[in-house]
Amino acid sequence: MKTKQHKVGENKSEVLKALPIACMDETKAVEFIEAQRWGEIPCCPHCGGKEVSQMKDKDGNRNERFLWRCANCQKSKAKQSQFTVRVGTVFESSRIPLKYWCYVFWRACTSKKGVSALEIQRQTGLSYKSALFLLHRIRYAMAPENVELLKGTVEVDETYVGGKPRYRGNNKRGRGTKKQPVLAMVERGGNVKAHVIPNVSGKTLKTAIRESVDKSSRIMTDENPSYNGLHDFAGGHHPINHSLNEYVRGDITTNTVESFFAIVKRGINGVYHCVSKKHLHRYLSEFEFRYNHRKLEDGERVVALIKNTQGKRLLYREPVSLN
Ligand SMILES: [Zn+2]
Repeated sequence: MKTKQHKVGENKSEVLKALPIACMDETKAVEFIEAQRWGEIPCCPHCGGKEVSQMKDKDGNRNERFLWRCANCQKSKAKQSQFTVRVGTVFESSRIPLKYWCYVFWRACTSKKGVSALEIQRQTGLSYKSALFLLHRIRYAMAPENVELLKGTVEVDETYVGGKPRYRGNNKRGRGTKKQPVLAMVERGGNVKAHVIPNVSGKTLKTAIRESVDKSSRIMTDENPSYNGLHDFAGGHHPINHSLNEYVRGDITTNTVESFFAIVKRGINGVYHCVSKKHLHRYLSEFEFRYNHRKLEDGERVVALIKNTQGKRLLYREPVSLN
């Protein structure tokens, strides 16, 4: 009688078992994305019909473009009765094989600091431009869609990121440099919202906070006087005075939001090196996405990202330059 042996990886989710295979084989990649998008029942992206069938080549294999045909669209003589799993997603107009998309979904969801186009180029053999294109689209898919207000205890802080690389002897920080101010707000135990902001004036900061945080919340910030005047939050405004070496007073601290910024900076300085102003908000989406899905396991996070690739195609405008 055979005894059941525990193998390495047995507890891994189905997704994490399927992903490495999907990254190597285009048919598996297509089937993987189809399963994540449609589950058991594929449906026509044009009419929502379920009467669909795979198109086959003369040997009975799936047709080389992985097309499906919709009986309903055919009957009603719709303009298009064929589709692929790409229709209606951020990869719709891309010719890059889906196995590379799968690989980058996986990497982008599991590397804490992010993954660079150079790394993707080296690992996949794609051109640098294609790798960059793919990452930009994935960041676009990662952009949060839900506009729910943060609530409870919300930590707020601002910092400067990106810009030109720093030179020795000109190691300026903050105001007066080419770095871009960013505001982050974190609901303790919940989500983060991070925004590129035009300046760090009291008006800008407070407007952003009021747009993102529920009025019932408790707000925690540092002693920056720009935050003065947040009287309209029922839980009160609780500043902590870093300049007096005060970092924690009871449960008043901005450590959570600061650790989010630490991850962003490690990623942007270490992995992405130089991020232009124009694209900074996309990079922030990527860090936000990973943070807001941190409680999921890696496979679930990939599934969440694939779900996010839908319905975004029409809104997307390609950046003029890719850097
Ligand atoms: Zn249809």
